[in-house]
Amino acid sequence: MKATCWMGRKKVEVRDVPDPKILNKQDAIVKISSTAICGSDLHLYNGFVPFMERGDVLGHEFMGEVVEVGRGVKNVKVGDRVVVPFPIACGVCEACKNELYSVCENTNPNKWIGEQLFGHATAGIFGYSHLTGGFAGGQAEYARVPFADVGPVKIENGFTDEQVLFLSDIFPTGYMGAEMCNIKPGDTIAVWGAGPVGQFAMASAFLLGAERVIAIDRFPYRLKMAQDQGAEIINYEQVGSVIDALNDMTGGRGPDACIDAVGMEAHAPGVKYLYDKAKQATRIEMDRPIALREAIMACKPGGTVSVIGVYGGFIDKFPAGAMMNKSIRIMTGQCHVQRYTQKLLGLISDGKIDPSFVITHRMRLDDAAHGYEMFMNKEDNCEKIVLKA
Ligand code: NAD
Ligand code: ZN
Ligand code: ZN
Repeated sequence: MKATCWMGRKKVEVRDVPDPKILNKQDAIVKISSTAICGSDLHLYNGFVPFMERGDVLGHEFMGEVVEVGRGVKNVKVGDRVVVPFPIACGVCEACKNELYSVCENTNPNKWIGEQLFGHATAGIFGYSHLTGGFAGGQAEYARVPFADVGPVKIENGFTDEQVLFLSDIFPTGYMGAEMCNIKPGDTIAVWGAGPVGQFAMASAFLLGAERVIAIDRFPYRLKMAQDQGAEIINYEQVGSVIDALNDMTGGRGPDACIDAVGMEAHAPGVKYLYDKAKQATRIEMDRPIALREAIMACKPGGTVSVIGVYGGFIDKFPAGAMMNKSIRIMTGQCHVQRYTQKLLGLISDGKIDPSFVITHRMRLDDAAHGYEMFMNKEDNCEKIVLKA
């Protein structure tokens, strides 16, 4: 089959690789109809996750048709159309029983790496390095889906792929980001990053009852998409200080909650950026936590900072003083996708949201390398690319 392979830093290639096979009785094989490139893939592309090997198959946002199932699979059958959540979850461990699927205790065969780096391992994740199990991803023609009874969401009502594909990751992720803010009527929620994840965090904040949402980014077309959803905007390249701007917009109090939908590859105007970029390049720090610092500094005392942007390691100049002295509540996590899929499918069915609003580009799987470059450089007003297998 054809698959998008990581071939080194800033190098992906669509190559011929062996078809996936059923390895365990709880596996299914899915023939992929649509898949997408995520901001998380850029961290691999740019070489910030040091557990990739040449030839690893990328992709963790995918859907398609079940073409084969292991003899232990009960909930899906050949011919079913499914969306596959990015965390692989067993459904029966302590974490899964508590709906903490992205930290499932049973699905990551490379636990020792996570234990050394994080104290404990995360769940297995499709196409997301050997740190999360080394599972082949879904930017391919087929994928092996372990624990097929636990993850895949059956799509039965004639939705288009584009309406439901993002149940695999970015819609639940944005939703979880907003849910962690414990939104009350009248609340103002600031969102750093108007990428696809930030857009779903904003949409979800409104769905959960926020009165105001403030989007922070530098790309006018991304800010425009946020504005079209009803958000107010700050272009951080056009204000002296994002924190001052947020204070001005909130009577000096700061937003009730702040969502970091940027993560480890944040950008900033001026020397702040060079400082973190140099430290990251020399591996003195692993992440550039520019948005995270700003979110903690901007947040209202007693408010919540919800971190859905991905971080990988250790950071510098973390404002622990602001966090502690202002009674900030920090909430975070890789999304526990399986916890949200039915509820969010319901919102799509009820016409409360059409997740396809983020899609700006459609390409063939063969053009994935071009897609990565375009999404990475935010060329041609690119917000989200769907690849058709
Ligand atoms: P993206 O690259 O399209 O968007 C990131 C946006 O952040 C860009 O628009 C960029 O201009 C903006 N940005 C950079 N520096 C900024 C700053 N200092 N202030 C404000 N905005 C800034 O990526 P995406 O697909 O939207 O993903 C965003 C993040 O979410 C990534 O870190 C990704 O890994 C993460 N993510 C997390 C989960 C999860 O489960 N928690 C799931 C999916 C993605
Ligand atoms: Zn993703
Ligand atoms: Zn589990």
